[in-house]
Amino acid sequence: MIEHKKSAALRNRAARVIPGAVNSPVRAWKPVGGATRFIARGEGAAVIDADNNRYLDYVGSYGPAILGHAHPEVVAAVAETAARGFGFGAPTELEVAMAELIAKCIPIARKVRLVSSGTEAGMTAIRLARAATARPGIIKFDGCYHGHSDSLLVRAGSGVMTLGAPDSAGVPEALAALTRVAPFNSLEAVERYLRAEPRQIAAVIVEPVAANMGVVPPAADFLAQLSALTHRYGALLICDEVITGFRLRYGAAHEMYGAEPDLIMLGKVIGGGMPIGAVAGRAELMDLLAPIGPVYQAGTLSGNPVAVVAGLKTLEILARRGTYERLERISARLGDGIARAIEETGVNGCVNRVGSLVTPFLGARSVRDAEDARRADGALFARFFAAMLERGIYLPPSQFEAMFVSLAHSDDDIDRTVTAVRDSLTAIRGQP
Ligand SMILES: *Cc1c(COP(=O)(O)O)cnc(C)c1O
Repeated sequence: MIEHKKSAALRNRAARVIPGAVNSPVRAWKPVGGATRFIARGEGAAVIDADNNRYLDYVGSYGPAILGHAHPEVVAAVAETAARGFGFGAPTELEVAMAELIAKCIPIARKVRLVSSGTEAGMTAIRLARAATARPGIIKFDGCYHGHSDSLLVRAGSGVMTLGAPDSAGVPEALAALTRVAPFNSLEAVERYLRAEPRQIAAVIVEPVAANMGVVPPAADFLAQLSALTHRYGALLICDEVITGFRLRYGAAHEMYGAEPDLIMLGKVIGGGMPIGAVAGRAELMDLLAPIGPVYQAGTLSGNPVAVVAGLKTLEILARRGTYERLERISARLGDGIARAIEETGVNGCVNRVGSLVTPFLGARSVRDAEDARRADGALFARFFAAMLERGIYLPPSQFEAMFVSLAHSDDDIDRTVTAVRDSLTAIRGQP
């Protein structure tokens, strides 16, 4: 039995002063049951909890930790920058370097505005699209998550999907009514909305690879055709690359699929684990932003130098030769290993993987959209999660999240994980 007295004590303290004892609902382990651990520190591919239990980590801070935790070069860059002050309410050179790097790596990102989270990037992208088109409507996809802003919290993925709440209380109906929801991978549904209201839709927003309903890859040609369709109706395409940007390749993922977004959102990896987000896109759209344009957007901590330097150092390390090849190789080893374990143990399930994003769906044979994902067996996944945790492997505590592989995972770590998957599936097979 693994000790977790200190986590339990911290949970009790937290529950008195923090709603649900967490600062983000996905951390509460609600979908899998059990008692969330408090993490004391991270080291490479491992996290260590308050009771000094060590786990091999596949949460990766939900995406940012592509180098693993506390990479020494990033820690040094952060310390050096922090010693010069935490932010000034005035521009700094680091922000320019970050914007230049994004613009250099992502052709459509002619101009960049840094914000402090992916949610803010989504809010700003939507506001820009509405201003540029003078239209109110948004089309999003069922199971895609774009942050917790009012307009985008409709049939969202991640924690919302996990808790089975299609919507949030407190979102005015009039606002939610401006958001139409299509099944992921369905061009027909998008075209139906656009045809019904040809001058009402400002933007279509999409995760190029959906990763908040578990991983769901785009169908062949889906994103290229979605671009053409969206533009034919005078609407803008927003690619939400908060997870995929600089994770699936050095730059944006939409280029792999022939999509031509007008605006993109970034976050997670570009902050190397510190709070950051970015909206970027065509210059004439971005120049609608205050102070030169009429679209207001601001942030006390936007472009914070400590966050930006963590991101710049992370991106510098990612640019080294062979990083994405290595990430792909070990991620394939993991995905293939899990698929084999599912087959060998006779458990009903499948694995979706795109690069270092991996989701084993238990109880589902193939998953192409949120409807398919919802058919997965949540109770079976909960048992799997617990069995893996017992074996020292820390998975995201929900069927509807990706496992995030990092460059800190060794071949041995991957093999140990696959063995744990096989043992866990064997152990839970046929359990009630
Ligand atoms: C995490 C995420 C967001 C929101 O970013 P926050 O920094 O959590 O606000 C937006 N879009 C996608 C695709 C995400 O995965």
